[in-house]
Amino acid sequence: KKRIGVLTSGGDAQGMNAAVRAVVRMALARNCQAYLIHEGYQGLVDGGDKIKNASWNDVKGFLTLGGTLIGTARCAEFREPKGRRIAAKHLVKNGIDALVVIGGDGSLTGADTLRKEWPDHIKQLLADGDITQGEASKYQTLMIVGIVGSIDNDLASTDMTIGSSSALARICESVDAIQSTATSHKRAFVVEVMGRHCGWLALNAAICTGADYVFIPESPPEEEDWETTMCDSLKRSRSAGKRTSLIIVAEGAIDAKTNPIRTEYIKEILATRLGYDTRVTILGHVQRGGAPTSMDRYLGTLQGAEAVEAILRATPDTPSPVIGMLEHKITTQPLKEAIELTKEVAKAIEDHNFSRAAQLRPKS
Ligand code: ATP
Repeated sequence: KKRIGVLTSGGDAQGMNAAVRAVVRMALARNCQAYLIHEGYQGLVDGGDKIKNASWNDVKGFLTLGGTLIGTARCAEFREPKGRRIAAKHLVKNGIDALVVIGGDGSLTGADTLRKEWPDHIKQLLADGDITQGEASKYQTLMIVGIVGSIDNDLASTDMTIGSSSALARICESVDAIQSTATSHKRAFVVEVMGRHCGWLALNAAICTGADYVFIPESPPEEEDWETTMCDSLKRSRSAGKRTSLIIVAEGAIDAKTNPIRTEYIKEILATRLGYDTRVTILGHVQRGGAPTSMDRYLGTLQGAEAVEAILRATPDTPSPVIGMLEHKITTQPLKEAIELTKEVAKAIEDHNFSRAAQLRPKS
């Protein structure tokens, strides 16, 4: 009988609760035991009442709520081998032999490291007298499965991450609200959305709201004088009868010389060169908030269920998988490869090698 723990880590994302619920209920349906680990890796390091045996009703009502009801945290101790050893001890002491980690690439990197180091931790815990010989023999391996919860949709090897659909919906709702006041006053709005290395939210928000201009990290304006090109384009739209101008900027947007493109700078350009009454809105945490869309409930549920199936299918030699979705089908791929690919994409963007980034992450 498998004993499966589930935690959420890193930034919260709408739909994480749906995934937690699905892991717990699928585990119980498959005759396994389920454990809720509260406060991400901090809960594993702290142990005690942060790790709780879960029943069917413990995840009642989770499906439709945003954020993560079991809490999330950034945990410095877990970045060090010593912290991960304490986490290993608490897993063994609770009898947990499989762990589902729902988080971004940092959380999944941590999960992969824990699994890699697991035999060393067990040896050391035994040598230190923290676990018994019986426990050391029983818990020789730890199965880990990753599920990507990230509003940025920034993990390579999956078309959609949990939370990205809801964040996009929230941005569209907010921009629609802005547009009605912008139209009344013939104003220009510069709206900043999340996405440090990944412009998926900005690009899709621009398409869905009919923005006039968009700036994303993966495709900086090619022209040296992009300000003039932008102003000319906005002027043309206004002459054609448009009453507003809308510019969407990803928080990681850069120009051809890798300088950040700031919303305040764009505002200044529009105000001084075009004389537009221009306002800046930084959407911030509202993008993470609120109820998950049907897409995120669906993704969370299917991926949570698949995570349990992946655990039951695995042998001790199976590489840790990450559950994703490609072409509308739920996928199981090696976690390590997905993380490496994601890091390569981020590096390609940092190096301004945009064609390589596009090759590695065709969805962008
Ligand atoms: P987001 O996309 O919201 O930033 P994330 O999962 O990438 O989510 P991080 O802050 O990078 O968020 O990671 C969350 C936690 O995972 C960290 O606080 C730390 O405990 C653990 N973690 C991250 N990177 C590593 C690593 N390289 N080794 C071990 N643990 C890590």
